[in-house]
Amino acid sequence: KYSEEQAKRKELYNQIQQTRGNIRVFCRCRPLNKVEISAGCATVVDFDAAKDGELGVLTGSSTRKTFKFDRVYTPKDGQVDVFADASPLVISVLDGYNVCIFAYGQTGTGKTFTMEGTEQSRGVNYRTLEQLFEIAKERSETFTYNISVSVLEVYNEQIRDLLATSPTSKKLEIKQSSEGSHHVPGIVEANVNSIREAWNVLQTGSSARAVGSNNVNEHSSRSHCMLCIMVRAKNLISGECTKSKLWLVDLAGSERLTRTDVQGDRLKEAQNINRSLSALGDVIYSLATKSSHIPYRNSKLTHLLQDSLGGDSKTLMFVQISPSEQDLSETLSSLNFATQVRGVELGPARKQIDTSELQKMKVMLEKARQDSRSKD
Ligand code: ADP
Ligand code: MG
Repeated sequence: KYSEEQAKRKELYNQIQQTRGNIRVFCRCRPLNKVEISAGCATVVDFDAAKDGELGVLTGSSTRKTFKFDRVYTPKDGQVDVFADASPLVISVLDGYNVCIFAYGQTGTGKTFTMEGTEQSRGVNYRTLEQLFEIAKERSETFTYNISVSVLEVYNEQIRDLLATSPTSKKLEIKQSSEGSHHVPGIVEANVNSIREAWNVLQTGSSARAVGSNNVNEHSSRSHCMLCIMVRAKNLISGECTKSKLWLVDLAGSERLTRTDVQGDRLKEAQNINRSLSALGDVIYSLATKSSHIPYRNSKLTHLLQDSLGGDSKTLMFVQISPSEQDLSETLSSLNFATQVRGVELGPARKQIDTSELQKMKVMLEKARQDSRSKD
């Protein structure tokens, strides 16, 4: 049995889906950090209209630019607030939808914080698995669910299996099965039956990430970390079986090349990151504008995500930003990318329908959020 809250949220999301399609973009800004505070860094973002999904950015001494998103989080919004908005998508995985949730942004803006979080402040990955198990249990009279996870890393256009027990020299490739879905033959798919088991698997994955790199943080910021959750469901009454896939992706840092990076390995890394992030933007934009050709094959990242981007699958992008004036140019670059992804440049007619309809829903959604907060 669903809680009333969940049902309400799901309904709201279905409505948003009808007006906005399958792609939504949430903007999350981290707080100023200690170093920035002690250096007296100015904040260039404002949240005056954050409730309406609007972010203000001071681009100069007297110029302010605004960006519209499906949701804007202030630095005070916590992991619970963020997951409350992602949770309807997670639930839809148990209803047979493919979903892709990813965090985009400059290094140091909180991508890993949003997705992985910390043990004290769990992120989307953990909360997702926790919710999947919870609802699977609630529905156990009508459904049996089998949940398994894979953890991959894409670095320099190469796929690495972070759950592989022994390193293999064999190159991992993406194959298409006869029924059209995409998979990587040979990767570990770990069956998990509880949040604790799942957590152990995630830990194994993150420790494997460190192996072979002399600076873990640096390496992480230059590779895409991809968690794939497969859900196989059987309806015990109708006998119907469904299989769905949920990707949770912590993308490589989106920052542009600096002058010192213009040669050697760093250049190659940067070019590969650039290529895959652009490919991701191109794919989502092509989907939003209903283009006849969707260029999935332009990068390993988009090729892997193919089943969960487009069709009736649902996509959520967190665009992560820094509030600091020092990061202004990267912030603007991320916000512009996210704006393009959101496809707001569709025709004006569509734009009009979107805003009025969405406005009503935002108010309702905000109310639902307030309701859920007052219960905490
Ligand atoms: P990224 O993965 O984008 O490089 P991180 O997730 O590592 O960035 O975040 C950088 C630092 O900022 C970390 O210490 C993280 O804990 C902190 N941080 C990021 N976002 C938030 C937030 N919303 N609230 C509090 N701390 C945050
Ligand atoms: Mg990170």
